[in-house]
Amino acid sequence: MTVRVRFAPSPTGYVHIGGLRTALYNYLFAKKMNGTYLMRIEDTDRTRYVEGAIENLIHAMEWSGVIHSEGPFIENGEIVQKGEFGPYIQSERLGLYQKYVDQLIEEDKAYYCFCTKERLENVRSIQKAQGKITKYDGFCRGIDKEEAKKRVENGEDYVIRLKLPANKIIEFEDVVRGKVSVNTNDLDDQVLMKSDGFPTYHLAVIVDDHLMGITHIIRGEEWLPSTPKHVYLYEAFGWDSPKYVHLPNILNDERKKLSKRQGDVAVGDFRKKGYLAEGLINYISLVGWTPDDNEEIMNMDELIEKFSLERVSKSSGVFDVKKLNWVNAHYIKKLDVDDLTNRCIPYFIEEGIINEDEKDSKYEWMKKIVSISQENISYLAEIIDRAQIFLGEEVKPEDDNAAETLKLPHVPEMLKVFNKHIQENELSDEFLKGIFKLVQTETGHKGKNLFMPVRIALTGQNHGPDMKATISILGKELIEKRINYSINNYC
Ligand code: GLU
Repeated sequence: MTVRVRFAPSPTGYVHIGGLRTALYNYLFAKKMNGTYLMRIEDTDRTRYVEGAIENLIHAMEWSGVIHSEGPFIENGEIVQKGEFGPYIQSERLGLYQKYVDQLIEEDKAYYCFCTKERLENVRSIQKAQGKITKYDGFCRGIDKEEAKKRVENGEDYVIRLKLPANKIIEFEDVVRGKVSVNTNDLDDQVLMKSDGFPTYHLAVIVDDHLMGITHIIRGEEWLPSTPKHVYLYEAFGWDSPKYVHLPNILNDERKKLSKRQGDVAVGDFRKKGYLAEGLINYISLVGWTPDDNEEIMNMDELIEKFSLERVSKSSGVFDVKKLNWVNAHYIKKLDVDDLTNRCIPYFIEEGIINEDEKDSKYEWMKKIVSISQENISYLAEIIDRAQIFLGEEVKPEDDNAAETLKLPHVPEMLKVFNKHIQENELSDEFLKGIFKLVQTETGHKGKNLFMPVRIALTGQNHGPDMKATISILGKELIEKRINYSINNYC
């Protein structure tokens, strides 16, 4: 059997981090098994339609490196679909759903339901008051098929519901959860076709997974309760059911489901902050799965090699930003410094630290900042915090210790000598190596008495990056201004 799996997102405007993990596991499994990973857009819920969402989705997935081989792609700004099983956008497959739901009606496995919203609400509130599970009460199940069709022709509003047999045990094996067994008495006569002529997710997913030859359904645990209905639908159509793999939830550090309201869950937000695709993918692969050697740093090829559905965990995974940062920092450290600098430029521009047209003239300056920060940042936006000490003419001692250091009597004269040498020389590596020796010889001050006041006068801080790099990044002009400012204000 050739494995065929799918990522079937609904275009809601952003890709949830959980969606990325679902896509990734599908992708890894397909690659591992030499199978096919496809993308299908599930856009049958028109009330949730968001302009441009499909494009966003495709771009986000392209960025992540989890790339499908069948489905919609973007070429020259246009959506194009590739593959033999298309269209891969459900709203373009409406005729198919109609055909299959008609078949179910003919075979008495589905029925027209004319109940109004008010009636349904009423039924539900009575069930609630009686402490029963809320579900459709079957009011329209008995309507004669021919009569129902007449009512439809007369323009009455309707939906089509699945006619679940009573008291039937539905069983299936989930690769992660094991055997799942449910009695149809506990299930609802699911709406398959809505009054707007669009199928519900439940009908469309069955028809498409079958027609697209899907062998394994790997998706989030929130779909587990729907699966018995799906299993029954396969049976009703006389089709073989694919294998099911339900992935554990991803929780936040308060052990609640990750949701948009609690902060960043959109892949795009992580990208904006400057997480690298490699880092995010590596990290998210570990939320709900571990390789058998417990390795934590793995690139895509290694993930493919090590991935197995058997090692997907049953229990929820916790999304741990600290660990994400640790993993991402690993990938940042590995980047070539020019590559990292180029990736950081947009952050300098966005913060107004440089203008768009200073990209080249300030390149070396930015590169120096990047190079002393590379070991210490977890994601690109953090470069801005690191750049702060190099911005502006005014510095302020960060604490009492720093303020007291500048008050020492020898400091103003020593700072002037330091500045004189800076102004008179080319700030070459060679010169910077010897600058403190020069000041020491001339003033007699050394060690802490020499380094600390200079560092604090230049940056306001007691500790910080290497002094040679700091001097070279600040440059002559800013050094002079900062030294004068410190002398005038704090000495
Ligand atoms: N469209 C569903 C979603 O947005 C997909 C569920 C499935 O994979 O069956 O999550």
